[in-house]
Amino acid sequence: MLEPENRSTTACVVGGGPAGAMLALLLARAGVEVTLLERHGDFLRDFRGDTVHPATLDVLDQLGLAGKLHTRPHHKIGSMGLIRAGRRSELADFRRLKVKFPYITMIGQWDFLDFITGEAARYPNFRLLMNSSFHDVLRTDGRVCGIRYRDDDGEHELPAGLVIGADGRRSATRAAAGLRPRAKGVPIDVVLFRLSLRDSDPREGITLRIDGGDILGLIDRGSYWQSFVEIPKGDGIRALRAAGVEAFRDKVVRLAPFLADRVGEIESIDALSFLDVRVDRLRRWHVPGMLIIGDAAHCMSPVGGVGVNLAVQDAVAAANTLVEPLLGYQREGTPVSRSALAAVQRRRALPTTVIQLLQRAALRVDLNGATAETRSGAGAGAGPAGRLMGRMIGYGIRPERVRDDRILNGTP
Ligand SMILES: Cc1cc2nc3c(=O)[nH]c(=O)nc-3n(C[C@H](O)[C@H](O)[C@H](O)COP(=O)(O)OP(=O)(O)OC[C@H]3O[C@@H](n4cnc5c(N)ncnc54)[C@H](O)[C@@H]3O)c2cc1C
Repeated sequence: MLEPENRSTTACVVGGGPAGAMLALLLARAGVEVTLLERHGDFLRDFRGDTVHPATLDVLDQLGLAGKLHTRPHHKIGSMGLIRAGRRSELADFRRLKVKFPYITMIGQWDFLDFITGEAARYPNFRLLMNSSFHDVLRTDGRVCGIRYRDDDGEHELPAGLVIGADGRRSATRAAAGLRPRAKGVPIDVVLFRLSLRDSDPREGITLRIDGGDILGLIDRGSYWQSFVEIPKGDGIRALRAAGVEAFRDKVVRLAPFLADRVGEIESIDALSFLDVRVDRLRRWHVPGMLIIGDAAHCMSPVGGVGVNLAVQDAVAAANTLVEPLLGYQREGTPVSRSALAAVQRRRALPTTVIQLLQRAALRVDLNGATAETRSGAGAGAGPAGRLMGRMIGYGIRPERVRDDRILNGTP
């Protein structure tokens, strides 16, 4: 049964991932009435991006929250490395960046999101609807003016001055708005798994281990190795199944011999988590009354692990641009203009496109017959090239800062 929602909101953010949660926090701090809708009942999901980059830490520092985030369980990673034939070289070095936070903070994405939404909840103008799934937009005269969503109590309508779709790579908001991303071809998929970490293990931070064209990624999560193996797109998973779990375990051991005593933890090929690697991008990120950001606007490949940072950067750019129009809507009912939404896309299109181009270039090297070693950027080294890669991964292109004093000074 369709029940009328008794409350409306100024900004309705759909999707409590890094993009949506951060945007909701920033808008709440500036005094915007904001409702954040998340279809799950919690933020606990395995195999998500758990990296908080220096650029994101800078933004949190501006808000006076970086110190507080560091009180949550985390550990710091100063570089990304490559191990080939037992020899390590640095791919990207964050330690040499002359910045306040010269490292990547590894923190469970659920913990990060819990922290961000917890901060937002201190503002009375913020509302979080968990277990609430968007399924359509409301329209008046062709303009999006709210959403329809479902929760345990049934179906609801939520009128809103602006809807922001931040619902990830399979976005329902962009589909409801009639926006379709253009897929950019990528040659790989990825399987993910965990292996236990022992005190005697080498502490490698984030490393790619390479041998004979195979790539194993290992991320030190303190108590376990978050691990992934790249496979060819399309038939890769079928080939893995045909070869069987023993062959897969052998491959892992060939790439990382110290894991030989625990590859039995990989129970079967079906126990691996499969990631359909995508790179895509919307041509237009907005329709009247609605803006799309984060993975919903531009799905990133795992290369460099930059998706969370880009999502947060979109949120900062959107907040900088939209606080004033949203407060105008709140005061006088003035609709948020199309040009304000276009300004957000203009601001973020270049950084997104460049990073996607770099990711695809890195992935294409293999297709052209070169070695996986070349492809992974071996040779960036610990010198200036490693530092440059560190800056590119840690900050991306044109990193965002919070520019609106109402966000910076917002007190609950
Ligand atoms: C396996 C894997 C590993 C990754 N590793 C890394 C990494 O190491 N580092 C990195 O930076 N990035 C990594 N990424 C990418 C990163 O997770 C994403 O780029 C980032 O989370 C995008 O943030 P987002 O907020 O745009 O979307 P998402 O994080 O996808 O968040 C979207 C949110 O919207 C919610 N939602 C979806 N549909 C609805 C609906 N109908 N109604 C209400 N809510 C809805 C979802 O539940 C979700 O919480 C990884 C991605 C995957 C899949």
